[in-house]
Amino acid sequence: MNDRPGFATRCVHAGELDDAHGAPHTPIYNTTTFRFPNTAAVLDILEGRAKGAIYTRYGFNPTLFALEEKLAALEDAAAALAFCSGMAAESALFLTHGRGGIVCVGDAYGGTMELLASQLPMLGVPTRFLLVAEIDRLDAALAAGAGLVFFETPTNPRIEVIDVAAVAQVAHDRGALVVVDNTFASPVNQSPLALGADLVVHSATKYLGGHSDVTAGAVMGPKALVEPIWNWRKNLGTAIAPETAALLLRSLRTLPVRVERQNATALAVAQAMARHPRVARVFHPGLPDSPGHDVARRQMRGYGGMVTLELALSGAQTTAFVDRLRLFALAASLGGPESLAIQPAFSTHYGLGPDERARRGIGDNMVRLSIGLEDPADLLADLGQALGD
Ligand code: PLP
Repeated sequence: MNDRPGFATRCVHAGELDDAHGAPHTPIYNTTTFRFPNTAAVLDILEGRAKGAIYTRYGFNPTLFALEEKLAALEDAAAALAFCSGMAAESALFLTHGRGGIVCVGDAYGGTMELLASQLPMLGVPTRFLLVAEIDRLDAALAAGAGLVFFETPTNPRIEVIDVAAVAQVAHDRGALVVVDNTFASPVNQSPLALGADLVVHSATKYLGGHSDVTAGAVMGPKALVEPIWNWRKNLGTAIAPETAALLLRSLRTLPVRVERQNATALAVAQAMARHPRVARVFHPGLPDSPGHDVARRQMRGYGGMVTLELALSGAQTTAFVDRLRLFALAASLGGPESLAIQPAFSTHYGLGPDERARRGIGDNMVRLSIGLEDPADLLADLGQALGD
């Protein structure tokens, strides 16, 4: 192999354990504990002289080692930790590095918003929120007391693009860490660490898992920032289970094939919807008039599988459109093989309330699409019939 194999080669081969029987895939070590030859071997691991399996909740399990090596390789990171969900990954990360205060830029997943707005403040962690349009206030927000900037890019549900390098410059001038949730883009399309971010977090439930059958999370970055998170994961008890780790390893081997197909179909759907008379606006970074297109061209290799529509219809008519879809499933989440549609105002962003939704530009006429792996013509036919063509 080359010294630095390409992305697709890393997806297939990085981290995989050589097994005594010649299996090409890492076996599932479905065991909670591991036997030692003697006490000196236990101490070698506990005192950091050797890496070895001890106890699965610690993450010291060979299947997890394989997964974490592959996850690190995909983000070009020195280290990675795998979790039982994306929220588990975020919680451990914020508890480790966010206690000095967190600024969240742009829209984020509802669970992340709840953690940041309600739960971390209960522990005395100050949190602040800026819209993408308010990004010029980032320096002042950091000066008011925060050591970590967090954002998703592209964002949910407006698929806005945030300039990672520009945020990193402001944050690093203040000595703050930059954490990017790379779930929507996936490492196929975007490498936040190379753009200046300090840590990357994923809901691996989405594109990394890619089959709607895995709930998992990951944090990737330099050892000095990832290793302290390990202790929180250990005692929160949120390491990924070995069987789930094996499913995620299975998924990562096909990540580029899936995401490249989703990129292409999403762009085709976005272009077709932009021409439709009952569609007022399409949010997709691949469209030249979509917010953030110029930044996306600089920082993304592909534009992702998410497309958001604003229909030229009332909220009730938009609900009727979503309910008429047959091939698109009315379901939250994203990144799986099946295409999904959701009206954010009445699902993922319902909890924000009408005033906050209006402030964030999340109208009742908005529909978020997660484009799957079906034939583009079938997806377009379904959207067309639901739009009354
Ligand atoms: N980050 C993003 C962008 C998400 O969309 C989600 C879930 O929808 C999460 C984090 C949380 O991930 P999980 O559901 O795996 O806990």
